[in-house]
Amino acid sequence: MSDRIPDPVAAERISRALASLRGLAVGDALGSQFFIPDNLPFLRRRELPPGRWQWTDDTEMAASLVAVLARHGSADQDALAASFATHHDFDRGYGPAVNRMLRLIRQEGGDWRELASSLFDGQGSWGNGGAMRVAPLGAWFADDPDRAADEAARSAEVTHRHPEAVAGTRAVAAAAALVAADAHDRSATAAPAASSALRPVHGDEPPASASRPVQGEGLSTSVPRPVQGEGPGPTAEGQAQGAGRTPAEGRASDEPTAHQDPPATRGQRATGAGSTAPLMAETLLLEVLKHVPRSAVHAGLRRAIDLLDYSDVGTVAAVLGCGRRTSTQDTVPFTLWAAARHLGDFRAAVWTTAGAGGDVDTTCAIVGGVVAAGGPAAPPEEWDARTEGFPPWLVENLE
Ligand SMILES: [Mg+2]
Repeated sequence: MSDRIPDPVAAERISRALASLRGLAVGDALGSQFFIPDNLPFLRRRELPPGRWQWTDDTEMAASLVAVLARHGSADQDALAASFATHHDFDRGYGPAVNRMLRLIRQEGGDWRELASSLFDGQGSWGNGGAMRVAPLGAWFADDPDRAADEAARSAEVTHRHPEAVAGTRAVAAAAALVAADAHDRSATAAPAASSALRPVHGDEPPASASRPVQGEGLSTSVPRPVQGEGPGPTAEGQAQGAGRTPAEGRASDEPTAHQDPPATRGQRATGAGSTAPLMAETLLLEVLKHVPRSAVHAGLRRAIDLLDYSDVGTVAAVLGCGRRTSTQDTVPFTLWAAARHLGDFRAAVWTTAGAGGDVDTTCAIVGGVVAAGGPAAPPEEWDARTEGFPPWLVENLE
């Protein structure tokens, strides 16, 4: 990071947030490839689609969040609204309500508070746009999941004020914070074994106990795990709602794939701070629930815990949703189920998520951002190389 950042903690926060943002961008860019019908056979075979992959609104807005955090140290709402509007690229796949809102802010000096509050007859949007961009914020506040959730709520309110949108955004940020804290914890206390101690991806799990907040972080590297499979796509459901866009017809998910996931991860993790025991799927989701108010998102996360032993992503998506409605409650429980089951394994996490179909760029963005918040679980090199780089204005903001 730049030598203009004198505080090493700030540099660590930026480094952690950028690791999550890269995972988010790669997930977003790869997921968006599966809106192209010619690419669906690649998804079924779990092969990378050709060409360079462009990210979408998920990454553009997440980059604003990181830029604002770097400048203000918090989710300053006015600064966020200004950055969202300034960097709004109409061709990046924004939902219609947010497209209109950002255009009004940028071109007509609109007040984001009034615009966000007036959406959907004054209820505010429950689209998944707050959750889709927030994982890097969670990574930023890995030392304090409570604050991560509260800052996440403020970041959501700029565009998505409905309580479900706020609840789901809190959940994703808390998950990313806990994953990043866990990565740091084990890399700091067992550096030589950090890679092998990586997540419980699948199969037998050691016992564990509640995860805990940690100070600082560490972004180490490791070898990605082998690709894991998943089951058939879910049944179609629902119409798009909220501020999100309508998912394309005939998504990748409509045909089954040949893959199956191994058994899900369960168990409690051992000990408190300093443990090298891996964070377990169930423990992560139980911890996340502590940061989410009673809501449909909360209910969905409880259901997601009950489904952690399911290996068929189609079944899980049929129960939890997978973003086909582009609502937060239709998106967040499924994405955190997928992330929790594949901690430490970016490939398996994203392939499984994409295999469900639905709002694929956003579901893969959330999962990629959460999983990559644990530094060692970075996107594979080839995936990273195929994905468009960060926007130049973000890089300039961080220099
Ligand atoms: Mg998008």
